[in-house]
Amino acid sequence: MSLALVLGGGGFIGGHLARRLKQEGFWVRVVDIKGNHEFWEHPEICDDYVCGDLRDPVLVGQVFTPPSHSPDTPFTEVYQLAADMGGAGYIFTGENDANVMHNSALINLNAVHEAAKNRVGRIFYSSSACMYPEHNQLDPDNPNCEESSAYPANPDSEYGWEKLFSERLFLAFSRNYGLDVRIGRFHNIFGPMGTWAGGKEKAPAAMCRKVAESDDSIEVWGDGLQTRSFLYIDECVEAVLRFMRQDGFPGPVNIGSEEMVSINQLAQMAIDISGKDIAIANLGGAEFEQKYGFPCPMGVRGRNSSNQLFREKMGWEPSLPLREGVARTYEWIAQEVESQAKAAT
Ligand code: NAD
Repeated sequence: MSLALVLGGGGFIGGHLARRLKQEGFWVRVVDIKGNHEFWEHPEICDDYVCGDLRDPVLVGQVFTPPSHSPDTPFTEVYQLAADMGGAGYIFTGENDANVMHNSALINLNAVHEAAKNRVGRIFYSSSACMYPEHNQLDPDNPNCEESSAYPANPDSEYGWEKLFSERLFLAFSRNYGLDVRIGRFHNIFGPMGTWAGGKEKAPAAMCRKVAESDDSIEVWGDGLQTRSFLYIDECVEAVLRFMRQDGFPGPVNIGSEEMVSINQLAQMAIDISGKDIAIANLGGAEFEQKYGFPCPMGVRGRNSSNQLFREKMGWEPSLPLREGVARTYEWIAQEVESQAKAAT
């Protein structure tokens, strides 16, 4: 039986990925600082759920050790998804910069070291579109996120700088220690079974929640004209596995969708899907700061995945229309909102 290790498997993408690996017949170990996956029972996603802090090198040494039933077989596939991260309200205010950099860098330093030491089959590292230079993403209609545009580097957040550092860390271990790495740059992954409230949720989940909770208007941060693309979780998992299981191309490569929309268009999509008559209230500038006590955290003006390299190397690319993904996500979040409201009464 092949062994898989999913670091950060208690989170959104890691949970979906671990579940798919288990369905494929892998023996799966998940490691996460959270005691439980927020939405799945452990047996649905893994054979062994380790609650532990990946900043701790001793713990990381333990979780890379193969299970007792297969002590001489190193992990065939390792996925490094653990990071200190969240949506715009977490990453772009500046409040969490030190923790984001320190915590994620420690996790990656420990993971890459143990992966090389234990001679794992292959390791996937989850980088982010946030590592692309700000100066190529100022025009909302024409952002450039081709892989080759990464340097000279100029990410607009410390989160992006840490991702760039860790990409280089994984590549250096590949060069110097023969570690077989795959580096994917995720572009806004969304879907059911992910954080939808509390401040760490991302735009699609936040829009769906606001629409599900409202009957008159929803607040959208900024002027709503900033653009992004969003990739549905099932296609993200498929893309990661196809990339991970091909030989010879380590990346970095974008894992995203090329269907770019403005944030107001995304909000309108969620409203249309709900069938409700809801207005969009954009809030930015001084008004925003007065309400929340910090400047409106919007990120770059435009961002879209460029899938040319992925297409070329993998002969496949994600194709689910955004509206379909938002409809599936809205349905799930609306149910969550309803059951939470019922539980509160
Ligand atoms: P997530 O926050 O749901 O998952 C990350 C998991 O890491 C969480 O469950 C968290 O508890 C865990 N973690 C954090 N610190 C830890 C620690 N010290 N020890 C053990 N576990 C720890 O995020 P996600 O959306 O599933 O993202 C997964 C990865 O993909 C992250 O590295 C993220 O930076 C990257 N990424 C995600 C997106 C996206 O749109 N979701 C976009 C770009 C990059």
